[in-house]
Amino acid sequence: MPEIGFYGGVGTVTGSRHLLMAGGERVLVDCGMYQGLKALRMRNWEPCPFDAASLPFVVLTHAHIDHIGMVPRLVKDGFRGAVICTPATRELAELLLLDAAHLQEEDADFLNRKRLTKHAPAVPLFDTRDVRTVLELFTTRNYEEWTELPDHVAFRFHNAGHLLGSAMVEMKVKENGAITTLLFSGDLGRFDVPLNPDPLPPPAADYLLLESTYGDRNHDPRSLYDQVERVVKDSIDRRGIVVVPAFAVGRAQQLVYVLNVLMAEGRLPRLPIHLDTPMGVEATRIYRSHPSEHEAGNELTTSNFVLHESVSESKALNDFKGPGIIISSSGMLTGGRILHHLKRLLPDDRNTVVLAGYQAAGTRGRALLEGARTLRIHGEDVPVRALIEDFCGFSGHADSNEIMKWLGMMPSPPRGLFLTHGEPAASAALAARIGAEKGWKVISPKLNEVVTLGDAA
Ligand SMILES: [Zn+2]
Repeated sequence: MPEIGFYGGVGTVTGSRHLLMAGGERVLVDCGMYQGLKALRMRNWEPCPFDAASLPFVVLTHAHIDHIGMVPRLVKDGFRGAVICTPATRELAELLLLDAAHLQEEDADFLNRKRLTKHAPAVPLFDTRDVRTVLELFTTRNYEEWTELPDHVAFRFHNAGHLLGSAMVEMKVKENGAITTLLFSGDLGRFDVPLNPDPLPPPAADYLLLESTYGDRNHDPRSLYDQVERVVKDSIDRRGIVVVPAFAVGRAQQLVYVLNVLMAEGRLPRLPIHLDTPMGVEATRIYRSHPSEHEAGNELTTSNFVLHESVSESKALNDFKGPGIIISSSGMLTGGRILHHLKRLLPDDRNTVVLAGYQAAGTRGRALLEGARTLRIHGEDVPVRALIEDFCGFSGHADSNEIMKWLGMMPSPPRGLFLTHGEPAASAALAARIGAEKGWKVISPKLNEVVTLGDAA
């Protein structure tokens, strides 16, 4: 019977890595980096638990670093197989992996300059050269197109609605004349949100691997359109600028879409929207080049939407008086161009800073949310007089109700359902809910556990 090795993304929401072994074939689904707390990040340095050099295939569900960030590391371990994903995921992966490599290089550099490392010299997990090598191994498949691998495994992608290019993976495994079907949910998107399409209904599958990030919660039901309308109108009344620190890939485009829809509907006057992040600009171009995979018509190409790529284009914004919107990164205010804008705009009470998304403990974003009166930026204490707002509802993940709705579309119950990609409390709550409402068998695998599918259910 086929086996699955749960080599990451178990008991936590990063580091997704699942190895399917069947009929002499091995396919790794996702190869993500651990992010967040140091104890988790240290896992990125552990030796690969399987032989990477002889692995023939890696299939990627989407371009977020917690699903693809360790592929360059696989290559360092000798992997020379094929990395297969959708075309948009390939483009976003190049952008995000190069960015991750830069951050790794900068961190190692910093440790070495400050002599803060016990292992001198500090080395990056991977560098730009490793990423370039990896990109050579990528090959793309469109949604819904079956790919036959040499040894009795076939798979295809379905749109998961989580990020441009995101996919669930439907897999058919033929072994000893029997066919076993599997579905890897990847990260599951939400229903009825701006820009992203709904996740497609799940096909029938014998075994389902399901993410459970929000397994114990439901999202704030307030409409994103209403929140954005209120904040921008209020800022127009005060003749100020709205500054949004936002993640450059996905969230920035979603916000531009919402703003332009509100302006097209006459709920807001036509205002300039400035996107000031090189990565966000590139990601916007990638969104524009895949118009059939999201809901935007002309909302990402309007003339009031201005892209600022170069440093001089960014500096030109210093003269911008408003009213209008500046979107810049990083989302948690940890670095990047947003800091220059905040230095100028935070001390003025006409302006508004809108936090859009999770703010980790210890970040400037969290400090603003908690009412900090000053913010330390580039060695200066900048007074906070601008209005601080918080948008709810930007999460890319289905919540508990949405996961149940999606499961309700499955044509028949799976023989076994494995919960992955969740903190233990979230996975446990979802397992209990699925058990109670559907009566399905739910398994919460342990890290590095290898499960034989016939025995599992
Ligand atoms: Zn994701």
